[in-house]
Amino acid sequence: MQLIHSTREISEYLHGIRSTNQIIGFVPTMGALHKGHLALVNKAKEDNDFVVVSVFVNPTQFNNSSDFDNYPNQLELDITLLEQAGVDCVFLPNVDELYPYQSVLKFDFGYLEHVMEGEFRPGHFNGVATVVSKFFNIITPHKAYFGQKDIQQVAVIKMLVLGLSFQLDIVVVPTLREMCGLAMSSRNQRLTDEEKVKARAIYQALGRSRDEFLSGKSFVLVQQDGIRSLESQGFKVEYLELTKSSTLEKVTGLSTGEYAICLAAYLGDVRLIDNLLFIV
Ligand code: AMP
Repeated sequence: MQLIHSTREISEYLHGIRSTNQIIGFVPTMGALHKGHLALVNKAKEDNDFVVVSVFVNPTQFNNSSDFDNYPNQLELDITLLEQAGVDCVFLPNVDELYPYQSVLKFDFGYLEHVMEGEFRPGHFNGVATVVSKFFNIITPHKAYFGQKDIQQVAVIKMLVLGLSFQLDIVVVPTLREMCGLAMSSRNQRLTDEEKVKARAIYQALGRSRDEFLSGKSFVLVQQDGIRSLESQGFKVEYLELTKSSTLEKVTGLSTGEYAICLAAYLGDVRLIDNLLFIV
């Protein structure tokens, strides 16, 4: 497995790989890897001849500096996990390599900037779009892999790819969960043992909300009850929304189609997000 820190070096190296007609799959991560990340890697291994993973904690996508400062770091373990998973190349740029000057580029994803993650994490998608565009330009993969857990990120990346005509396919991988239903996340490492048990309430709340809504309760009531129940268990809920899964447009009533119930909540000082897809 090749470990590469420099933009120029990886660009030249992958140019050589492409010239042998190999199909390149790319998985961007911020490290602190878990089985959810490895599900993306495994899918990329299945679909491609050559798999590149980036490990980079992108400062421009953190709207909260303490979240950035406390972001877990386990680089040696990450490298071992990626090697075991059969990854071909890991890109490990440092901040100066990707941001030779403080980034001033601005993206605007319209509606997506103003709801859910866009509303509660101002500037977050600008940072995501900036770093993902850099990676797409440097790595020029044929396919790139993203997790369903970050459903709004997927919508933003798809808009980015169409908007800037990146010539690649976006592959979305279902959310990997702990046995109890808790979505795997690097941030789960920061939960105490007691909080880890409590955190399963998030997935339970999503399932209950879906069931209540499908049984005819209005989503406004589902939302109020869901938030109240989580807050009584010690969560601070930022949003619990019912959306059309393709556009993430908020809805309150139902027609046929695919929906996503999306949730973000703090448990202690750890921010957790999750979503549940269902078809009507
Ligand atoms: P991160 O390192 O948190 O930026 O995540 C890197 C990629 O892994 C993103 O595309 C995430 O959506 C994806 N990911 C994170 N957690 C999971 C999970 N539990 N299941 C599937 N994909 C995930």
